[in-house]
Amino acid sequence: MAPHRQEQWLWLVTIVAILAVAVAGPLALRGAKNGLHTAVSRLLPASMELATARQNRSTVTELLLQALQTPDSGTRTADFNQLSILDNAAATSWKSYTRLATKLPGETKLQAKVVLDQTEGQAQAIATLTSTSPSSSAAAVATLTALGARQRQDMDQIQKLYQTRINGSLTSADHEFSAGQSELPIIFAIALVAIMIGFGIRVRKIRRREVVQIDEGRRNDIESGLQRALEMSRTEARCYTLVQHAVQQSSPTLPSELLVADSSRAHFTQVASTDPAGGPGCPVMSPDECPATSRGQTQTWQTSTAIDTCPHLENRATGPCSAVCVPVSIAGKAIGVMHATGPDHDPPDPSTTADLELIARKAGERIGILRAFSRTEAQARTDPLTGLLNRRSLESAVRDLTAEAHPYSVAYGDLDHFKLLNDVHGHDAGDRALRLFARVLRDSVRPNDVAARYGGEEFVVVLPDCTTADAYAVIDRVRTRLADAQRGGTVPSFTVSFGLAPGEADLAFSEIVEQADAALLRAKAAGRDQVVLAGPRDEEPDPVAANGLAPDLRSAC
Ligand code: GH3
Ligand code: MG
Ligand code: MG
Repeated sequence: MAPHRQEQWLWLVTIVAILAVAVAGPLALRGAKNGLHTAVSRLLPASMELATARQNRSTVTELLLQALQTPDSGTRTADFNQLSILDNAAATSWKSYTRLATKLPGETKLQAKVVLDQTEGQAQAIATLTSTSPSSSAAAVATLTALGARQRQDMDQIQKLYQTRINGSLTSADHEFSAGQSELPIIFAIALVAIMIGFGIRVRKIRRREVVQIDEGRRNDIESGLQRALEMSRTEARCYTLVQHAVQQSSPTLPSELLVADSSRAHFTQVASTDPAGGPGCPVMSPDECPATSRGQTQTWQTSTAIDTCPHLENRATGPCSAVCVPVSIAGKAIGVMHATGPDHDPPDPSTTADLELIARKAGERIGILRAFSRTEAQARTDPLTGLLNRRSLESAVRDLTAEAHPYSVAYGDLDHFKLLNDVHGHDAGDRALRLFARVLRDSVRPNDVAARYGGEEFVVVLPDCTTADAYAVIDRVRTRLADAQRGGTVPSFTVSFGLAPGEADLAFSEIVEQADAALLRAKAAGRDQVVLAGPRDEEPDPVAANGLAPDLRSAC
């Protein structure tokens, strides 16, 4: 659910809770009072029935006494009839009372006493009424009077129990109600404060989540845009431009730079900077010297004046500062660092740092792919022993030159008596000689010349836009530099012969190479260690003439 929707719901729930407290409080009090009154309403009817039963029983006793004292038997019989009616009424009201009785403490005992006195008195009266002796009548009157008084006394005691209980209940109900009335505002206020605190905490959480969601959304935008752009980039230079763009999109005013080392990881170069003046200008030289790249994790520096700050932050011309340094890694190996500075004691915030980490991660992934791709491509294009182009790449380069109608010269080189060198000094020495020659060749030709290992110990150099005379000078320089390079070295002494042919528009590359090869044969025949221009051949020379041997190989022949 969207945060603002959640907030609306929260408001609604809070209002309902407040209303519930406001309504539930008085309702609860009224309920309490009703409960107490209900209790009282059970006590009162029992008390009233008891009063009726007492009244009836008193009347019955009085009538009995009256009957006992009447000498005339006719009148006695009349009284006796009326008495039985009243006795029934008294018994009924006593029954009603016992049905409603709430069993107050001591009530049952008193009830039993009342019933006993009643039974005893009634038996005495009936016995007397049915006898004719005047003395028994007098005794019965005395007993009945005493029993009646005791009975009334017991009933009064029961009544007292009821009165006490009724008064007590009413008093406590009144107390509880008035106490509830005074406590209700406090309970209401506490509930309100609790709800408002809960509400505040919840709203803060929602707002914070909202900020995080917005931040994540913004970062997702940067990530997807950068990802798409990087996938289209074909060079590292393009990657660096995109990194710079992404950092500016994240924090337009943040001074930052990207330092990257080449595949050897030897030296850092600043490849991107968001500061037009080229800042922040970290002087760190290599990944090993940088705390972020050597530790392989983001470093945040609060101030450049702290004792444990990065040494490369100290003494900046711009004064004390804070910084964040994020390593850029390829397959876990840090090859670069994104360096961003801030005011002293105020480094880029965690959100900005998270952006930089994202950009650094994406850049590392892409640079890794591009480097792996270019390695594979280079491996396919070059000869592994010498690092020079292979024959296939040479032919491809020549196709490009031909397509652009560039004139070129071709030199065909072959190391002299190389088989003998291998035989005398071993194959490893031969390999070292081949590598040495490749280095000399690479260093001697011009940047746009194309030097390739054509096969075995044979090399072809294509020299674009070059007259035969100029090509001769370049190639002859290779020969002389080879001699210089061998001085004081560990590689056995050897020489090279070259045949040189001018590129002619109507000839295919293979035909020009053939011409250069023919000139090479002439160089071999003429004594080796020389450059021979292609031209009309006078006679077939002996390619293995012994006078062409390098000094240290002559003795081996
Ligand atoms: P020439 O002066 O007439 O060219 O004599 P050569 O001995 O150089 O001629 P040949 O073509 O008979 O010998 C070429 C030798 O180069 C044979 C082979 O062992 C050696 N060779 C070719 N490729 C390599 C390589 O990659 N490493 C080493 N060590 N030797 C190689
Ligand atoms: Mg050869
Ligand atoms: Mg050779």
